[in-house]
Amino acid sequence: MQGLIQHYPLTTNAILEFGNRVFHHKRIISHLPGGERHEYTFGDMYLRTKQLANALHDRLGIERGDMVGTFAWNHGPHVELYYGISGIGAVCHTINIRLSAPQIEYIINHSEDKVVFVDATLVPLLERIAPQLETVRHYVLLHAPADFQTTLPNTLHYEDLLAEQPDEYEWPDIDENEACGMCYTSGTTGLPKGVLYSHRSTYLHAMTILSPNAANIDANDVTLLVVPQFHVMAWGYPYLCLLAGSDMVMPSSNLQPAALIKIIQQEGVTTANGVPTIWLGVYQELKKNPPAEPLTLREYVVGGSALPKSLIRGFEDDFGIRGVHAWGMTETSPLGTISRLQRKHERLSQEEQLTIRAKQGIAFPGVELRVVGEDGTAVPRDGKEMGELQVRGAWTISSYFKTLNKESFTADGWFRTGDVSTIDADGYMEIKDRTKDLIKSGGEWISSVALESALMAHPRVREAAVVAIPDDKWIERPLASVVLLDATEPVTEKELADFLSTDFVSYQIPRDYVFLQEVPKTSVGKFDKKEIRRQYAEGTLG
Ligand code: ADP
Repeated sequence: MQGLIQHYPLTTNAILEFGNRVFHHKRIISHLPGGERHEYTFGDMYLRTKQLANALHDRLGIERGDMVGTFAWNHGPHVELYYGISGIGAVCHTINIRLSAPQIEYIINHSEDKVVFVDATLVPLLERIAPQLETVRHYVLLHAPADFQTTLPNTLHYEDLLAEQPDEYEWPDIDENEACGMCYTSGTTGLPKGVLYSHRSTYLHAMTILSPNAANIDANDVTLLVVPQFHVMAWGYPYLCLLAGSDMVMPSSNLQPAALIKIIQQEGVTTANGVPTIWLGVYQELKKNPPAEPLTLREYVVGGSALPKSLIRGFEDDFGIRGVHAWGMTETSPLGTISRLQRKHERLSQEEQLTIRAKQGIAFPGVELRVVGEDGTAVPRDGKEMGELQVRGAWTISSYFKTLNKESFTADGWFRTGDVSTIDADGYMEIKDRTKDLIKSGGEWISSVALESALMAHPRVREAAVVAIPDDKWIERPLASVVLLDATEPVTEKELADFLSTDFVSYQIPRDYVFLQEVPKTSVGKFDKKEIRRQYAEGTLG
């Protein structure tokens, strides 16, 4: 028997209309690349989104299902693009500005973007590849002065485009399963692959992530969106802030630790997101220049790579700010798990609590996890046995855009993450490694992630990345690339090995160390292990 409840499509328009209806006074504050601060309300943004919808349809000829690219930092107009593009039934394709030129060219041609909205400061990146872009009919310049010079063809200025349009627009009826947004994976494992989000998946993800067991954001919050809008839709924060009624603070390119701290202070930020490298930098800057007043920041949600225990502890002990560890992928919209303590953990020691918080955490409602061993069956949920992490759920990919990639899915329809993890009896999942980064030494697995977290707990180590190197006897051995906090205070290899010996047995401890100025990073700020391995093989590492 069918339930007797109205059909109410879960669309980004439903989010936008709610945000305007209930929280129209809430603010979007942008700190723009040139340092200028801009503030307006959800209500102002709503009207501009309607102007944009008219412009997309009437002026730029965008139809239902068309791809529209954005090449921009986090700021108010980029939020307008999220809602305006998907609002008319087109697809907002956020392009990662940090990819290489050939990758960006590939992505734009593959997705068949009809129009690309581009920040003036990022135009030079697109100018180089524009002649090869086959489908782009117009480029729309964001934040460009009137006399802005560019070799991009068919350019329009965003503000001119909006100014000529009425701020009334009736949204079309959209099926909640239609596409609203697209992101490509960052291509660490081959060509970037497109993940096409639906209105429904976006809505459900946002509703879930704002809840107390998850990011815990409400109408009293001022949320800083450090995760770029071009990286998995800023983890859905532009949607969930409208649902939660949280002010949004958009830092654009002001991502250096001192700049972020200044923004947190100036805007009274209470919660934020970001990858570990960002928060490591903020922590070290706070240590160097302690703030006169405690920061308003209550907690920061971290994902993308492992959040080291030492960083959780340092932030909390020194500044009273809580780090909350989450896990996700482009293919999971992105958030799949988060690690928060529960009442039953109160009796544990601080160290035991930290061990739980440093895990990637429990799945959100709407997401299911299983860890599958080499024999193809699920391993016991004992927190010990490792296997491949597989996931399914209401915002998990069912297929890549225009690419089959059958090997990414199991016969019974689960997505194969390529992560190796454990899961315990309480459902807390812990990532041990990515399949391709796990080190197999003398028949035993060594987790590079565990070694990295342990090395980064050393008081004189800023960053550490561990990869496998070939070894005649053991097949593979771990190699640690280490960045020191202060080059004038060196650490010996023996000191590091001794430091690790409290948590690791001898075969797991790296014998080989390379001291670097900086660990190579990917376009989204993760350790670029492919690059480290390449440099090592070429003999150019360090
Ligand atoms: P890409 O796959 O291109 O690197 P994603 O941003 O989709 O880009 O990365 C997803 C991967 O990042 C996951 O499969 C996992 O390996 C890693 N990851 C994400 N969050 C965490 C985390 N909290 N701890 C450890 N690894 C993580």
